[in-house]
Amino acid sequence: MSVYDVAIVGLGAMGSAAAYHFARRGARVIGFDRWTPPHTRGSSHGESRIIREAYFEDPRYVPLVQRAYRLWRELEGLSGERLLRETGGLMIGLPDGVLVRGATLSAETHGLPYETLDARQIRARFPSLAPRDDMVAVWEPRAGVLFPERGVHAHLEQAKAAGAVLALDTGVSRWSAQGGAFALDTTRGVERARRVVLAANAWLEGLLPDVRLPLTVARQPLFWFEPKTHAARLARLPIHLWEPEPDRFFYGFPAMEGRIKVATHGRGATTDPDHVDREVKDDEVAAIRTRLAAFLPDANGRFDRAAVCLYANTPDGHFVIDRHPEHEDLLIVSACSGHGFKFAPAIGALAADLLLEGETDFDLQPFRLARFG
Ligand SMILES: Cc1cc2nc3c(=O)[nH]c(=O)nc-3n(C[C@H](O)[C@H](O)[C@H](O)COP(=O)(O)OP(=O)(O)OC[C@H]3O[C@@H](n4cnc5c(N)ncnc54)[C@H](O)[C@@H]3O)c2cc1C
Repeated sequence: MSVYDVAIVGLGAMGSAAAYHFARRGARVIGFDRWTPPHTRGSSHGESRIIREAYFEDPRYVPLVQRAYRLWRELEGLSGERLLRETGGLMIGLPDGVLVRGATLSAETHGLPYETLDARQIRARFPSLAPRDDMVAVWEPRAGVLFPERGVHAHLEQAKAAGAVLALDTGVSRWSAQGGAFALDTTRGVERARRVVLAANAWLEGLLPDVRLPLTVARQPLFWFEPKTHAARLARLPIHLWEPEPDRFFYGFPAMEGRIKVATHGRGATTDPDHVDREVKDDEVAAIRTRLAAFLPDANGRFDRAAVCLYANTPDGHFVIDRHPEHEDLLIVSACSGHGFKFAPAIGALAADLLLEGETDFDLQPFRLARFG
């Protein structure tokens, strides 16, 4: 039986990107997914994702997102698909809130272009937005929208073109280290590889019974509304994130195909990834409507539809990207906590840096397993 150079378990945002980046460097790759991505059971669906550079969560993410911007553009060139639309972005909240302070810190630390707008300036420039008088915004010009299903599809197509073998509808139940390689038990038999990337995100814990991995999986609904008024100016909006009260976030996109997508961002309700309640309730729609009524009245039209997505949350909201404590050729990746998509190509590339070359240029300290104790 042949031994692959690398096996990738899970071909969502992270695994599809890793499959491509390993394959383009000449590695013999096999990728597995329990379903056929892009699909709607994990964390990488829902038509749009935010990308932003003035990263409020921590300035250490900025070099990583900058690599991601370059790689998304490169993938657009290879695939001929539009994957990224720069709209500019607004981080709106109290001047001393996590969002505004954090975005300002990242912009200052890395010399990124930005402006601070007061509530009057926000309303004047973006008349669909209705911030309270006590709110300000950080405007950053490079933020924008990614199209997640297209991104996953493009990475998988380019991975195949570079020679990767993709085993779809093929689950991996367990792995073991055997004589310098790993054996993976799949629903279609055993495969072997010298290196492994575990990128199963919401399902990661099941593949790592012996590692302390404090991930909690949360149900996160997304909502689409028809414009109530001013459809044309809603279509011209930048992406917008709001922190109306300390540590409570919601966000929205420009209207696309006549619908505006909004959602809350937070830890969410814990769920079992195999038994997710996919039905969005009236009270959930009503709750997000109160945000529209207060801050985005133009978008408070007819409710169109909703979808449910999964966050795999760490306690501190930072990613897990680390080698297995006992197997250095096995990389564990959960770049989620609800903000990982934008980084996917950079994380795919750094997985290849780490497992093929032994090192990467990025500071992975915030993503180490050891921080969980
Ligand atoms: C509502 C919502 C909004 C978000 N908004 C943003 C945003 O605006 N910007 C941003 O950057 N990020 C955002 N994120 C986060 C981002 O989408 C995720 O971090 C990212 O998609 C995670 O990708 P992944 O590859 O780790 O997981 P997934 O895409 O879920 O991939 C995991 C894959 O593993 C497969 N799998 C699982 N178990 C097995 C197994 N045993 N064997 C084989 N395959 C297996 C699954 O089928 C799945 O395809 C959002 C997420 C959600 C849910």
